[in-house]
Amino acid sequence: MAEIINEDIKNNPQLSHKVTVIEKILSKNNKMADEIREEFNKHKITCFNMMSSPGSGKTTTLENLADKLPYKFAVIEGDLETSRDAERIRKKGIWSFQLQTGRACHLDAGMVKHALPHFPFDEVEIAFIENVGNLVCPASYDVGAHYNMVFVSVPEGDDKIEKYPVMFRKADIVIITKADMLEFFDFDVNRAKEAANKLKPGVPVVLLNNKTKEGLDEIIDWISEKRKEHLKKLGG
Ligand code: MG
Ligand code: ZN
Repeated sequence: MAEIINEDIKNNPQLSHKVTVIEKILSKNNKMADEIREEFNKHKITCFNMMSSPGSGKTTTLENLADKLPYKFAVIEGDLETSRDAERIRKKGIWSFQLQTGRACHLDAGMVKHALPHFPFDEVEIAFIENVGNLVCPASYDVGAHYNMVFVSVPEGDDKIEKYPVMFRKADIVIITKADMLEFFDFDVNRAKEAANKLKPGVPVVLLNNKTKEGLDEIIDWISEKRKEHLKKLGG
């Protein structure tokens, strides 16, 4: 949210007060996020923050990863209401904790902290945080993850990448889901790749079909690469 600060705001006392409050909230959040990351590091766990608009297929991707990912993982779920997604993950035999945010349209570090006393730190190698479906503010809240996965589905349109640049600038991988819908929608994969790379040079863009599982191996390879990179940073 620091992006909204400009001269106009600084010169307007009322708005500038608002910005100071937002900055304070974010710096408190960042401190807590660092503590969460430290906790994951201590247990040699690599954490991925999954972000997208609602209905892009984050949970379905996790269900498919449960069948194929060569790492033990656990999932922290965020939604406004219901425990549906956590239940779907548990049905796959994966530990999952549901955070219900009520009215909040994103997860923050404080919320994620609530899940940690229950988290199976000694049993897994990877943690996924499935953020609340929203392409805007989840990008501004560090939740203590090491890497960000941003999803955009074919029916949403390739223009969403340019329209929501704050989110896509944060992406360590962009996953285009619902590739089976390409024949019905005017989604230009190359245009999407270009837009994503303009915002985050070199970012991998993967096309995923959760029905045929095409693209899943590429995502697994990327996760493995990031897992190794993280362990190397931790010194083994
Ligand atoms: Mg979901
Ligand atoms: Zn929000």
